[in-house]
Amino acid sequence: MNTLTLKPGKEKSLLRRHPWIYATAVARVDGKPASGATVVVRAADGRFLARAAFSPVSAIRARVWTFDENEPVDHAFFKRRVSAALAYREQMVHGTGATRLIFGEADGLPGLIVDRYQSAPGAPVTDQLVCQFMAAGVEAWKDAIVKALTGVTGCPNVYERSDAAVREREGLPSITGVLAGAEPPEAPEFLTTYECGVKYYVDVRKGHKTGFYVDQRDNRLLVQQQAKGSDVLNCFCYTGGFSLAALAGGAQSVLSIDSSGEALAIGARNVELNGFDASRAEWRDADVFKTLRALREEGRTFDMIVLDPPKFAPSAHHVDRAARAYKDINMAGFKLLRPGGQLLTYSCSGAIDADLFQKIVAGAAVDAGVDARILRRLSAGMDHPMLTQFPEGEYLKGLWLQRM
Ligand code: SAH
Repeated sequence: MNTLTLKPGKEKSLLRRHPWIYATAVARVDGKPASGATVVVRAADGRFLARAAFSPVSAIRARVWTFDENEPVDHAFFKRRVSAALAYREQMVHGTGATRLIFGEADGLPGLIVDRYQSAPGAPVTDQLVCQFMAAGVEAWKDAIVKALTGVTGCPNVYERSDAAVREREGLPSITGVLAGAEPPEAPEFLTTYECGVKYYVDVRKGHKTGFYVDQRDNRLLVQQQAKGSDVLNCFCYTGGFSLAALAGGAQSVLSIDSSGEALAIGARNVELNGFDASRAEWRDADVFKTLRALREEGRTFDMIVLDPPKFAPSAHHVDRAARAYKDINMAGFKLLRPGGQLLTYSCSGAIDADLFQKIVAGAAVDAGVDARILRRLSAGMDHPMLTQFPEGEYLKGLWLQRM
């Protein structure tokens, strides 16, 4: 039996049900567990703590599958976890064809992300699962997981996008390709999905992550509800999620900026797909930092600004530099805002918590010389639940502010 024994005292976080075991907490590994193999985790005194997936090269040396000594890790285990994940989404997540079906630790499947794309009612029928296997455990159980996914959801099409940089830390190569069913359509024939009444093309093969930022659904709905008659600036727009939401909500004009030409091209096609007035949408292939300065020099102002940048702090080491970058764009954002205008600003850096982010944004308002008030704190949608004992799962935080 492969067993991982912890150093004295290192059982505490597991007893609080935190699902990660760091290499520095491990006293001994008995047996010869392969990458992703199931190990029994024991406290220094021999007590059973958990069954976990072994990651021989990762700083996170094991990730917990179960704290229940009587629960084996087998095909039935994965079927149960996927069934529970689907039942939760069916109960809680509505009005969308783009859903995060599996959100890693929060669904008891550490290292696994699965998004499901279904088509808008009336559009060509889409049903596609897109997976990211980002830890040794889920990698080792890939066949069982794919079987559970297709069996439980009834969706025959599974595509893998395990090309995230974190795979390297697990000693895993980058892989993409079909795991089950049909090849997703190749560019420019993307599959279509919908969200809050808006249709979107999704490039599941070459797009970012799984192709679409499902996590911002509730925040895009907020923009849709608030955008009527507004001049909107959408920075880091990707394929135009917030831009389309603003147009759907009756925005007067939407200027969208991103440094990815491919993403912008899909954004422009999304306008067509929805039959929106293309003359209201301007797409700029540019660097946001430079463009914010240029807009200020041009004397442009906006009623609503969205700042949804990529992760500026990939780890705790980058927090200082990232904080400066967040402050920079938020300061520029405040300056471009008309009095009464709204700023929706986000950070998806796990290393920057909600309190720090709020401090950064508050500092940006002061330096911009504007008074602002927080209308609401924002987060990812309900298909991204967070375990109470796992703060690492809370990566997306946002603030909805108004310039006074
Ligand atoms: N808001 C989007 C997701 C944004 S993801 C949505 O709802 O779908 C972040 C985007 O920032 C990516 O599309 C990336 O291409 C873009 N990006 C990263 N750095 C940039 C920069 N310096 N200037 C402009 N765009 C940038």
